[in-house]
Amino acid sequence: MILILGGTAEARELATALDEAAIAVTSSLAGRVSNPKLPAGGVRSGGFGGPAALADWLRGNDVIATVDATHPFAERISASVAQACPATGVPLLRLERPSWSERQGDDWRRVPDLRAAAALIAPLGKRVLLTTGRQGLAAFAKVDQAWFLVRCVEPPPPPLPPRHMLALDRGPYTLEGELGLIDRHHIDLVVTKDSGGRHTEAKLDAARERALPVIMVDRPPRPEVNSVATVAEAFEWARRHAQAG
Ligand code: NAP
Repeated sequence: MILILGGTAEARELATALDEAAIAVTSSLAGRVSNPKLPAGGVRSGGFGGPAALADWLRGNDVIATVDATHPFAERISASVAQACPATGVPLLRLERPSWSERQGDDWRRVPDLRAAAALIAPLGKRVLLTTGRQGLAAFAKVDQAWFLVRCVEPPPPPLPPRHMLALDRGPYTLEGELGLIDRHHIDLVVTKDSGGRHTEAKLDAARERALPVIMVDRPPRPEVNSVATVAEAFEWARRHAQAG
């Protein structure tokens, strides 16, 4: 079978395509979202227990090839599979959506991580739309000069910024919806990470339309792995391996 490390829309699309082509596929989810959108084909859930345990899992489950289609910020699982696959001789492909890039009218500041984002807030805004996800919000816990609208899929663990409101939502988002949110809450700064993709892109269009600055957290460094940017390319790669296997 083909193993997909998932948790993204692209991973689900790839699972559907392989399942429809009658290629055996299992998707692996971290298991932290309470009501995940389930992919087609087999599904397993929860961490493997590190690279060595993942290698055992690959050996024990007749995995022909693995596609790492996890989120661009899911650092640990990508590092883990980049060790486990070479150790077991299982071919590995990384499916990663392209980064966002600045367009005319945008006012972005790129920063390397959440701490650098937090340090840049005070000079730029007082009412922040924060969409960096529920992990790592401790980086903003000492930013008391600004109010935050914290949007994420699941309730985030503390600590959080002292002055904030939670907006639990999972998108996809529309330009009208994002403009409405910005206007209703008098948002003057957007802080986000470079996830890429269309599902969550509308906030960037809305920020441009309202001439708001954006603090954009860059993607973390990745292991060197054979990569593609589209589901179609990943499907072809997996199909070739399934046929050969
Ligand atoms: P992470 O920091 O790389 O992962 C932490 C640990 O969770 C890993 O070491 C692994 O445990 C387990 N894990 C993560 N993804 C897994 C998967 N697909 N299947 C099995 N175990 C997995 O990842 P994260 O940032 O917490 O993200 C977790 C999941 O949410 C990923 O699948 C990712 O695609 C999705 N996601 C993440 C973000 C984000 O911004 N980070 C956004 C949207 C979706 P073991 O070491 O025990 O194997």
